[in-house]
Amino acid sequence: MTIVKRKFDVVIVGAGGAGMRAALQLSEAGLKVAVLSKVFPTRSHTVSAQGGIAASLGNVTEDNWHWHMYDTVKGSDYLGDQDAIEFMCRQANEVVYELEHFGMPFDRLENGKIYQRPFGGQSQNFGGAQATRSCAAADRTGHALLHTLYQRNVSANTQFFVEWIGLDLIRDAQGDVLGMTAMEMETGDVMILQAKATLFATGGGGRIFQANTNALINTGDGLGMAARAGIPLEDMEFWQFHPTGIHGVGVLISEAVRGEGGYLVNKDGERFMERYAPNAKDLASRDVVARAMTIEIKEGRGCGDENDHLLLKLDHLGSEIIKSRLPGIRELAMKFSHVDPIHDPIPVVPTAHYMMGGIPTNYYGQVVAPYKTGPEEVVTGFYAVGECACVSVHGANRLGTNSLLDIVVFGRAAANQIIEDLKINLHHKPLPEDAADQSMARLARLENQVDGESVAQVTDALCKTMQTYCGVFRFEDTLLQGVEKIKEVAERVGRTEIKDKSKVFNTARIEALELDNMKEVAMATMISAEARRESRGAHARDDFPEREDDNWLKHTLYFSDEHRLDYKPVRLKPLTVDSFPPKKRTY
Ligand SMILES: Cc1cc2nc3c(=O)[nH]c(=O)nc-3n(C[C@H](O)[C@H](O)[C@H](O)COP(=O)(O)OP(=O)(O)OC[C@H]3O[C@@H](n4cnc5c(N)ncnc54)[C@H](O)[C@@H]3O)c2cc1C
Repeated sequence: MTIVKRKFDVVIVGAGGAGMRAALQLSEAGLKVAVLSKVFPTRSHTVSAQGGIAASLGNVTEDNWHWHMYDTVKGSDYLGDQDAIEFMCRQANEVVYELEHFGMPFDRLENGKIYQRPFGGQSQNFGGAQATRSCAAADRTGHALLHTLYQRNVSANTQFFVEWIGLDLIRDAQGDVLGMTAMEMETGDVMILQAKATLFATGGGGRIFQANTNALINTGDGLGMAARAGIPLEDMEFWQFHPTGIHGVGVLISEAVRGEGGYLVNKDGERFMERYAPNAKDLASRDVVARAMTIEIKEGRGCGDENDHLLLKLDHLGSEIIKSRLPGIRELAMKFSHVDPIHDPIPVVPTAHYMMGGIPTNYYGQVVAPYKTGPEEVVTGFYAVGECACVSVHGANRLGTNSLLDIVVFGRAAANQIIEDLKINLHHKPLPEDAADQSMARLARLENQVDGESVAQVTDALCKTMQTYCGVFRFEDTLLQGVEKIKEVAERVGRTEIKDKSKVFNTARIEALELDNMKEVAMATMISAEARRESRGAHARDDFPEREDDNWLKHTLYFSDEHRLDYKPVRLKPLTVDSFPPKKRTY
């Protein structure tokens, strides 16, 4: 079978905020850019970002990038790389004004400036009073962002491949990345996209947990493709559990609700966060609030017949504020939990939300990894940005509204780096003979498998294993069992069968391909979590409750081939300012 080949300067996998910000920069520079997406671009998960995008504009309270940097370093529980964090916080105002000039419809203050709201972990003056740093378009900030970027990309002639799924990276004998294989979801046709630069912007992989806030497409495909191509995955033990997913369904209720003055109560009507974080209360960092909620439930102070959730109260804000600032939240609460928050509290539980780890990169979006067993180096032709990348600006715990900032800052930075790199790499490198072999073998296995299990069954086992053995609190025995269980599930992934072999719009085939990627993400998570014997940020171990900087102030690298782990130092030195040395983290 001959496989169609097409050549581009740059192939981007992912049309969320990260992919589209990069694509815009590249197309406007005159490069030939292809953007692949499993869904129509404006349906990427960025669309559901509610709360806002962080920038120290200082429109409501005094602010500056250095305070923002401090909060981000502290929020990361000192695992974030301080050079990358400085880079991001310093560029925040510029990228937000740029979005404003692109036409993004931010809410306004009375004086006409961009509206900002307070979010968890934001402070003035290095840990002082609450700061007000999140720029918002009501509770639909991601929606506004994505539509703005899509329109600009259409004007810039970016070429979109909608409902195409990227399958595998193509690397040559030196390890350089030369493009990738992809499949059209409607027809099952496979194509090789040859490129001088390949950029992954495939978003998160929250679907590996049974209860999560993520879209169905968030299956960690970029990580799966990278892992299969020999690239390690960084800091995969760190997953953010958002405090307020709707009980029973997982749909997110934004932290903006607490930013606007909402708060959590237990079954006695007590505002329990006052006990756990006396200063920041409900606006403490997300890992802190999620743990406090889990303890309240475990100690029998949860609400409802089963004492299994807590209540988020916002009726005291008044219908005016709820309708103008939180209209989408009200709609979600009415649809998914049948309560109108103008009158009644919303039942909530901590829910898997955000992947801090990912493909290791520097702050120019270049993937940095060892080739085989060699030293760490920039992988020629390969870049990653957004939630699939680990820069690392979020370290062990991300602050709310820092991800939308991350995707625009690093989307732009990676594009600028590619523009520079392509001034040197003028030509496409020749494709190896076996360029499509890995993908064709995966597809052939699905074609030929008989007597296998259904994809849905194995996916379900994977999600349940992650939820049960690797949740908000982690225990030695459950982690050890979890490693064994997830290895068993991984074996089963290799024997799934799709009963209907037709190629046209075959969602079972797509789900099987996605499951290959979820398997890599889940294995990396469980094995990295079992090995890290400390508690830091979102990784909370019952048997090692303290942070251990002497032994563990380092990034994890997981290699898929032998399930091997390695570690690398945290970059504690910022670009121009003094380092923030690790200290005890209280809110
Ligand atoms: C409910 C919710 C609310 C949030 N609210 C906020 C907020 O208010 N503020 C904030 O800062 N952060 C928020 N976050 C986090 C933030 O929205 C995300 O981290 C960020 O938008 C990710 O952007 P991205 O461009 O990296 O990926 P996404 O927007 O997830 O896009 C991924 C893209 O990759 C494509 N893709 C994936 N795999 C493949 C493949 N194999 N082939 C082809 N295409 C592929 C998808 O089709 C999609 O286009 C929220 C997250 C969630 C889930």
